[in-house]
Amino acid sequence: MSFVQLGLIEELLKSVADQGYTTPTPIQEKAIPLILEGKDVLAGAQTGTGKTASFTLPLLQRLFQNYDPHQKPRRVRGLILVPTRELAQQVYESVIAYSQYLPFHIESIVGGASIGIQTRQLRRGCDIVVATPGRLIDHVTQRNINLSNIEVLVLDEADRMLDMGFLPDIKQVMALIPKKRQSLLFSATVPNAIKALAAQLLNNPVEVEVAKQNATADNVSERVYGIDREYKRALLSYLIGSNNWKQVLVFVRTKHGADRLEKQLIEDGIRTAALHGDKTQGARNKALEYFKNGKVSVLVATDIAARGLDIDDLPHVINFDLPQVPEDYIHRIGRTGRAGASGEALSLVCPEEAWALSEIEKLLKRQIPRVADTGYEPVSLKVMDAPKKNAPNKTTGKKDFRHTKKTAAKTPKAADSKRTGGQRTESRGKGRSGSRGKE
Ligand code: AMP
Repeated sequence: MSFVQLGLIEELLKSVADQGYTTPTPIQEKAIPLILEGKDVLAGAQTGTGKTASFTLPLLQRLFQNYDPHQKPRRVRGLILVPTRELAQQVYESVIAYSQYLPFHIESIVGGASIGIQTRQLRRGCDIVVATPGRLIDHVTQRNINLSNIEVLVLDEADRMLDMGFLPDIKQVMALIPKKRQSLLFSATVPNAIKALAAQLLNNPVEVEVAKQNATADNVSERVYGIDREYKRALLSYLIGSNNWKQVLVFVRTKHGADRLEKQLIEDGIRTAALHGDKTQGARNKALEYFKNGKVSVLVATDIAARGLDIDDLPHVINFDLPQVPEDYIHRIGRTGRAGASGEALSLVCPEEAWALSEIEKLLKRQIPRVADTGYEPVSLKVMDAPKKNAPNKTTGKKDFRHTKKTAAKTPKAADSKRTGGQRTESRGKGRSGSRGKE
């Protein structure tokens, strides 16, 4: 998907290109077309998802469509409310950047800055105001700003605004702006209080949500299993079987890999379906239906196939292969731990993927905890070098990261695991039971 396909005008496409953006982020893909259509939107999106552009670009376009160059002084037609000065500054800079080829005047109205200067700027007239609620109310009270021409209202980081006690201010603003308007509510989380606010502010809103960007939610436990590639499948079967997991989304890198793993898991006695781009729509629907209704416990999918799926409230997500694009890790992880449910996101990482892991951790700005004892010989996940073209494959890698299979680490059958879970644990290596806490 490109920005052109989202329906943005030339002036905005140019400024987006100036920013160096080539493809829209998921929230931009979802929200921009809806906002351009004039819909009210309730969006669950955190900082870092590209949310600012997702409301600013269509807001600019909507206002530009009815722009009257002869209107003097300018009337405030767009209002963006944010909880803090810092955010106001960031959003203000974004609006300036995205509107550089458009004729708008934009002002930032925040506490802590000179009210006299703001007053003069407001009186000169502007099209769009980015404001914190308290200072905006001050200006309203002093009649420095007229809110009766607002066409598009945005509440950014609405959950934080409520936490900071801005609800009365927001209500006061609402009473002053036209009922007939477009309203957009962006919030990192969507608890009941936000839903209640949305019900008051928004008219028949469309809800959109994107994967948690940093995936640091306490309720998602992430872990990395360092493991030689050839034992990944045995470990996967073991994890699923011994824990008796019922709904597991397993990500693989290739279509071929998806088919192969599906077959192998079925051989291991685990009810599995695969989903990838080469499957017919009918086959995909069936796989998904079986996964949802519990006929299969495991869905093996590629990123592309999983992208459009309405399955994002899963207890277990497993990266059988790490994604090649670090951002995809975040999208994958975002499918678990929704709405306060606890989730688990495990990554089986072989030494050849150490580089991909380090890229993901750079993006997350944190390390994902390692499982100390996987039941297999430990492998090093230290990054030696960035992968080169024709980098040494598994065979070469083995020289550096030698590991031997433990004697009884045979592929477990899911059914066996259930019956003999305790034995299996023992058989997978000495001292295993004592090492759980070291993860
Ligand atoms: P935000 O979530 O709005 O705070 O944006 C997070 C960061 O992503 C900002 O630095 C934006 O400049 C950047 N950004 C927004 N949209 C895109 C995009 N489509 N491609 C690349 N970077 C983007």
